[in-house]
Amino acid sequence: MIYDHCVIGGGIVGMASAMALLRRRPGSSVLVLEKETDLARHQTGHNSGVVHSGIYYQPGSLKAELSRKGAVATKEFCAEHGLPVKELGKLLVATDERDARRLEDLVERAAANKIEARRVSAAELHEMEPEVAGVGALLVPITASVDYVGITRTMRDVVERAGGQVELGQTVTGIQESGDQVAITTPGTTWRARRLVVCGGLQADRLARLAGLTSAARIVPFRGEYFQLPRERSGIVQRLIYPVPDPSLPFLGVHLTPMVDGRVTVGPNAVLGLAREGYRKGSVNRRDVRDIVTFPGFWRLARGQVRTGAVEMRNSLFKRGYLAAARRYCPSLQLSDLLPYEAGIRAQAVLADGTMVHDFLLEETARSLHVLNAPSPAATSAIPIGEMIADRALATA
Ligand SMILES: Cc1cc2nc3c(=O)[nH]c(=O)nc-3n(C[C@H](O)[C@H](O)[C@H](O)COP(=O)(O)OP(=O)(O)OC[C@H]3O[C@@H](n4cnc5c(N)ncnc54)[C@H](O)[C@@H]3O)c2cc1C
Repeated sequence: MIYDHCVIGGGIVGMASAMALLRRRPGSSVLVLEKETDLARHQTGHNSGVVHSGIYYQPGSLKAELSRKGAVATKEFCAEHGLPVKELGKLLVATDERDARRLEDLVERAAANKIEARRVSAAELHEMEPEVAGVGALLVPITASVDYVGITRTMRDVVERAGGQVELGQTVTGIQESGDQVAITTPGTTWRARRLVVCGGLQADRLARLAGLTSAARIVPFRGEYFQLPRERSGIVQRLIYPVPDPSLPFLGVHLTPMVDGRVTVGPNAVLGLAREGYRKGSVNRRDVRDIVTFPGFWRLARGQVRTGAVEMRNSLFKRGYLAAARRYCPSLQLSDLLPYEAGIRAQAVLADGTMVHDFLLEETARSLHVLNAPSPAATSAIPIGEMIADRALATA
């Protein structure tokens, strides 16, 4: 059989794309191939569970547009399918004058991106969050917590109800485009489709190369290590509490996140990962290390980020450094409050000149469309990203 569309990757972006393809073309045949034995085993299942507002992003960028739309779409999807949403809002806390100046820039960004945000004084902050300290803050009411694994599994139900097929345990090892179809090889099977969409997350660049795409972007894995608060301390914050981020970096800084299941996470940091899919501390994969050290873009990036990299590494190795980062805005935290929690690994696209790609990045061949960079907040934005992918795939079908 020749499917109309094949989607590689059973994370939230792949499932949202399959869902959108079937919504745009009811009755078409859509196949999803996922290498793991369950969906959402990688980035989608190892994130902070936050519905981001899109406040940080360059006005006019895909990220800004798709996260604003995505926040609304994600909440609507949850409401429609009875999935939990914790509408808590987020406080961006300025702890010194430099932060306060950056906060003012964010006020302007929020306005440019049409996102509701309100300045909060130090006194009001203390009233709202007695355990949080700062010289001021910005309240972003739309930010919320959800369960992205639950959302992805529900997307599968929607896809299957619409006639789509989801095949787990299918590692794609070959992609061959010919005149009017693409042959996709997994051990033991060759699948055929008229068009291919690849949402491979941490393996995105390798899948692109398999398809013959010569992209300048390479994936560099960045671990995001978390802790969780003990149950009896989970009431110390009522909202999501974030530091003011460094605008030159795509990471948001260690934050306190009340999750939908009642736990509160502290994190994530951002340290270079030596295994794209190795979640335990100290995980090393030889192929992944070789790909990093032979990539000139990595060394150019590293040279520009020596100080930040060293601080992140120190905080990863020594819990006290990590604690100090969180205590800047939540001084009552103690070492005993930081309990173990599984890390996540970000698929960050980096160009040969060492530039980290901040925006979502899609590249195409004649019959396939590759998502080469879908960093945070791509879980928030997955539904409109899926719609954009479906529109592009169908435009050339
Ligand atoms: C620590 C961390 C915190 C984050 N926090 C947030 C947040 O709070 N809010 C937010 O909006 N975003 C957040 N993000 C970002 C978000 O999780 C990702 O942008 C999103 O999950 C990307 O989804 P994806 O489907 O592209 O990738 P993934 O979820 O990684 O899915 C890719 C899939 O492709 C499959 N695959 C790969 N290679 C093959 C192959 N050869 N054959 C078959 N299948 C293959 C993988 O097994 C995987 O299931 C965070 C990310 C991390 C790591």
